[in-house]
Amino acid sequence: MSELNKNISDFDEFQKQEQYINALQDILYARAGNKQPLAMVRTYGCQQNVADSEKIKGMFEQMGCSLTDNEEDADIIIFNTCAVREHAEDRVFGNVGALKPLKKKKPSLFIGLCGCMMEQEHIAEKIYKSYPYVSLVFGTHEIQRFPVLLYEAVTSKRIIARGQDDGKIYEGIPIHRDGSFKGWLPIMYGCDNFCSYCIVPYVRGRERSRKPDIILNDAREMVKAGFKDITLLGQNVNSYGKGLDEDIDFATLLKQVSDIDGDFRVRFMTSHPKDVSKKLIDTIAENDKICNHIHLPVQCGSDRILKRMNRKYDTEKYLEIVDYAKSKIPDLSITSDIIVGFPGETYEDFQQTLDLIRKVEFTSLFTFIYSARVGTPAAKMDDPVPYEEKAKWMSELLKVQEEIAAKRCAAMVGKTYRVLVEEQAKNGMLSSRTANNIIVEFDGSKDLIGTFCDVEVTQARNWILRGKKL
Ligand code: SF4
Repeated sequence: MSELNKNISDFDEFQKQEQYINALQDILYARAGNKQPLAMVRTYGCQQNVADSEKIKGMFEQMGCSLTDNEEDADIIIFNTCAVREHAEDRVFGNVGALKPLKKKKPSLFIGLCGCMMEQEHIAEKIYKSYPYVSLVFGTHEIQRFPVLLYEAVTSKRIIARGQDDGKIYEGIPIHRDGSFKGWLPIMYGCDNFCSYCIVPYVRGRERSRKPDIILNDAREMVKAGFKDITLLGQNVNSYGKGLDEDIDFATLLKQVSDIDGDFRVRFMTSHPKDVSKKLIDTIAENDKICNHIHLPVQCGSDRILKRMNRKYDTEKYLEIVDYAKSKIPDLSITSDIIVGFPGETYEDFQQTLDLIRKVEFTSLFTFIYSARVGTPAAKMDDPVPYEEKAKWMSELLKVQEEIAAKRCAAMVGKTYRVLVEEQAKNGMLSSRTANNIIVEFDGSKDLIGTFCDVEVTQARNWILRGKKL
């Protein structure tokens, strides 16, 4: 553990950021061969990581760097890592290994790693020992200290900085938003739910909510800057407000954001089913700007397994929420996360998951085969079902979901939807998104990207629609 952590209190240090940023402007310029340094931030994992990377990019811009997506051109490379599944971690190890020849070719290249993976002591130490060309390793609670850590790592020694969760939220960090019309707005950090398979509470700390006036100010700024689609972010947005002086809950905050003047729409993720209130669903139903889409991870359809997962709800409660939401919100889209093959899950349990999927008729699913995370209770549980067997279950599930998605999309043919045009698809058509989160492709000029337009759906292709602009 570097000495740096022990000397200066976080807040004082945060105050002195500017000094470090100013000093780094000259240092990085010189290191880049007396030209503007190019910084690259690669993001792995979830939207929370994307939002964190936008802060790191914002701080790089303050240091006089411009941004690149090309490793070969970069003078500084930061990987913002994810620890949610083994696969994500393996990718990071592989990609860090691939930087070795680049560092050999360009000794002045600076390489650093941050994010959830680096918040785990055993991983941070492994990176530090096995990849001597990585000069900086810092965890999720250190983002606000990035300029200080970078300064130390560039001027003196390799650094590991993690495990210092002071439970505070540091506001005022510059943000470089990747998008210009679609953006992320974090409202809270951390999670107190401790689902037995999940590493997040151990790497992202305890729940803490940002102050509502700061969030509303950010939202107003985004609307003024032309953002058309704003997603409120948190590991569990439904517990927003806990621990704040202000007496506010998530439904109230969502309403306040949707009351901001302007032509835009609001989304949110992620919701924990145990905290979804009727008030929230009514708020969505009563406000046009709030998208008729709820991402509601159920994870499994077996109550026995939900208990082992420590999810704190059962399928009856889950279906109750779904039924109420469908009764209140027209054309509602519900998406979800499903883990297949949780330790101890039997084929009979799995069949209950398929039953639930058929009952809810999700628009789409994020599906994963269980991946043990070191340090989580589930990692110690007996897991007798072989991976190959779980993979067979997964393909059975995907088949069921494919049929449901196709049926849902077919029911949208002939209807007209207001879509936000997001990009040009590989097939040259424009790719757009409905408020209820379904992709519609249609022919049109690239000038429409970033704007709303009305499209009549003419065809359904599995879970993607085709249409014509009205
Ligand atoms: S709610 Fe559960 S799955 Fe989601 S981040 Fe928290 S602990 Fe993980």
